[in-house]
Amino acid sequence: MPPFEVPEGDPFGPHNLPYGVFSRAGSQEKTVGVRLGDHVLDAGAAAVALGSPYAALLARPTLNPLLAAGRTAWSDVRRALTAWLTVPSHQETVAPFLHPLSSVTLHLPFEVADYVDFYASEHHARNVGQIFRPDTAALTPNWKHLPIGYHGRSGTVVVSGTDVVRPSGQRKAPADPAPVFGPSVRLDIEAEVGFVVGVPSRLGRPVPLEDFREHVFGLCLLNDWSARDIQAWEYVPLGPFLGKSFTTSVSAWITPLDALEDARVAPPERTHPLLPYLDDSADEPGGYDLRISVAINGHVVAEPPFATMYWTAAQQLAHMTVNGACLRTGDLYGSGTVSGPERAQRGSLLELTWNGRDPLELPDGKRAFLEDGDVVTLSAWAPGAAGARVGLGEVTGRIVSG
Ligand code: CA
Repeated sequence: MPPFEVPEGDPFGPHNLPYGVFSRAGSQEKTVGVRLGDHVLDAGAAAVALGSPYAALLARPTLNPLLAAGRTAWSDVRRALTAWLTVPSHQETVAPFLHPLSSVTLHLPFEVADYVDFYASEHHARNVGQIFRPDTAALTPNWKHLPIGYHGRSGTVVVSGTDVVRPSGQRKAPADPAPVFGPSVRLDIEAEVGFVVGVPSRLGRPVPLEDFREHVFGLCLLNDWSARDIQAWEYVPLGPFLGKSFTTSVSAWITPLDALEDARVAPPERTHPLLPYLDDSADEPGGYDLRISVAINGHVVAEPPFATMYWTAAQQLAHMTVNGACLRTGDLYGSGTVSGPERAQRGSLLELTWNGRDPLELPDGKRAFLEDGDVVTLSAWAPGAAGARVGLGEVTGRIVSG
């Protein structure tokens, strides 16, 4: 099939057009690519060939210049790319710049500035609260009043396909007399959605809810690998540290918010009144209907629904800047583990196996936590116009011994 003719129903048709960074076989040169079906368009080379002014944003080794360009440029570039890939007079010119995905190497698509991770699923927070703090209320008193988060480690964000080295660290179960050191024995996943900031903000100036789309370019799947044994011993009182900072995987493809207009949904009904800077009750819908799938060694173990998230990405952005902290191009923030109300909708093994008590039955054996050699793959789609599906780039990683 010619590269422009994407099969009917392909979730990566011209209605999607996610951005990535790739290099061709035998070349070290990275450049911005746009996915169409099972091909990638060398967007910078196409822009140069067409004499497009957007070559300055696209003929680059990273998405950062495009991210920084702002919403008007984002819309203009997307409109131009759509024309190049769908209008016959342009197709002839750009055809030489379409390469089979199987022939290229995909790279981390942007330089990650700051990395923040939230905790926005009420179902996840209640499950974790019951598991880690069985003698207290599942939700902490602040949970319904602010989106809880922590600052993570941007330097260990890696692109999908990168091996995940099992971390070592201290662990101590409550009944153990003293901590021991060694490879984590409770290595886990967290199925999340990452939001990518494009336009920076000024120090001292909070970003209000309504400015979310002026700053955030798009989203991607994110796996917040977590060592539960290290985490459980270290997290009181300052929160996650070495149990999470070893690796965070993101998709090679960033889906622009403009491709997800038909996936916007209202978040769940709020049960507590919100302070004005977080009150989105009069705003347009801030949630996204993303249907996530979690597979271990090709076997689907959960299907977490992103539409059930209590806090929206706009609220998270407003909260993380309300103290005047500024945004930088390339800031990445994770939604927090996506878990729905059903058991088969939980986005971590911690919850799926109830901290190992109820192991999963996989075709290759039981699994409480991840074993060396396990391959975890997150995939997702969102509803598009007229029944179409908008595919999100998968994020996958294989566990290797440390
Ligand atoms: Ca997380």
